[in-house]
Amino acid sequence: MRDVLLVRYGEVFLKGANRPHFLKVLTDNVKKAVKPIGGRVWLSDSRIYVSDFEDLQDCISRVTKVFGVYSVSPAVEMEKDFDAIAAKCCEMLKDYEGSFKVFARRSDKKFPLNSMEIGQEIGGRILDSNPKLWVDVHKPTHRMNVEIRDNAYLCVEEVKAVGGMPMGTGGKAALLLSGGIDSPVAGYQLMKRGVRCCAIHFQSPPYTGELARDKVMQLAKQLAAYSGGMKVYLVPFTKCQLEIHEKCADGLGTLITRRFMMRIAERLAQQFGAQALITGESLGQVASQTMEALGCTDAVVNMPVFRPLIGMDKVEIMEIAERIGTYATSILPYEDCCTVFTPRHPVTKPKLATMPDAEHKLDIEALVNEAVENTEVEFV
Ligand code: ATP
Ligand code: MG
Repeated sequence: MRDVLLVRYGEVFLKGANRPHFLKVLTDNVKKAVKPIGGRVWLSDSRIYVSDFEDLQDCISRVTKVFGVYSVSPAVEMEKDFDAIAAKCCEMLKDYEGSFKVFARRSDKKFPLNSMEIGQEIGGRILDSNPKLWVDVHKPTHRMNVEIRDNAYLCVEEVKAVGGMPMGTGGKAALLLSGGIDSPVAGYQLMKRGVRCCAIHFQSPPYTGELARDKVMQLAKQLAAYSGGMKVYLVPFTKCQLEIHEKCADGLGTLITRRFMMRIAERLAQQFGAQALITGESLGQVASQTMEALGCTDAVVNMPVFRPLIGMDKVEIMEIAERIGTYATSILPYEDCCTVFTPRHPVTKPKLATMPDAEHKLDIEALVNEAVENTEVEFV
């Protein structure tokens, strides 16, 4: 008899021909997550199991962050001896109060009792052993799960995990990561769908300092905890911003800046092998996030731009930021490159047709090339 962690995954993505591939990726990702604590991971009979971990809570906290995992349960693995199983169930429920039901499953059809008989017999013995428990077959407070597979697996508690799709099964994308609250959440939402992300950050020294950079690296690291590492591109953006400030109409400054970010990001995304860009806009939040402005922003790139926060309110975004652990870092007060040159009266309904004229004094190719060439790459 020994303690194991039973790992449940979503059934949705397991239909069809992709099933073995998804399962292999998911199992490998669980392996990576528990490697530092020495856990052993295996896949058997449509379940993933972890054993040999030092600390159960640590193991749970690691595995529940793996995308594609829906829930985990601390379980007991034991031999398929019915009396021993029933006794163990009674022991596991000895401190519980309220209603319960035994959920029995038998994939080993040679086991002498069928699922219904297992449930009834063990239910009876639990009732006899603990007077504070009663049976409710419809809405039980406690669920005693008994699974008869290659071994018997018993569990009561279930801990929810992040869900989503296994990391790496959704393609690659480049996240434009500022130091704000929104973009880390936007990245998380796509990572949750199995998308491997790199981060691209625009910095404008000396207007933005070391602390702003540290903050972004910290955010990248927090996101990387969900994916097992992340590549970060740090783009020198001062020259672009100064030229835009000097040579373009003030009211369009932010929008033109955003267009440069997209052009540079697309080039770096191609280097990374990404098929899409991810940004953190939410419709109407600021002048550069109106439908017209977003249209002008997207027009300079050919890649799809994903904006998972487009329909969310700030409070909803903040809730997710809190939950995934990036909020406290995001609210640190360091200047972002955008805030440095923010125009006083930004145009909220820019016309796409006027953009080439608005940018005609800039040598776009040269500015983009220079920024791309001088980009630094780091891993977190
Ligand atoms: P955030 O909270 O993500 O900073 P925001 O509400 O401040 O977003 P904007 O400043 O309009 O919005 O930026 C919109 C998006 O552009 C950001 O969500 C992010 O994806 C990208 N972005 C803005 N500034 C930077 C930067 N310095 N480096 C990389 N990406 C950036
Ligand atoms: Mg911002």
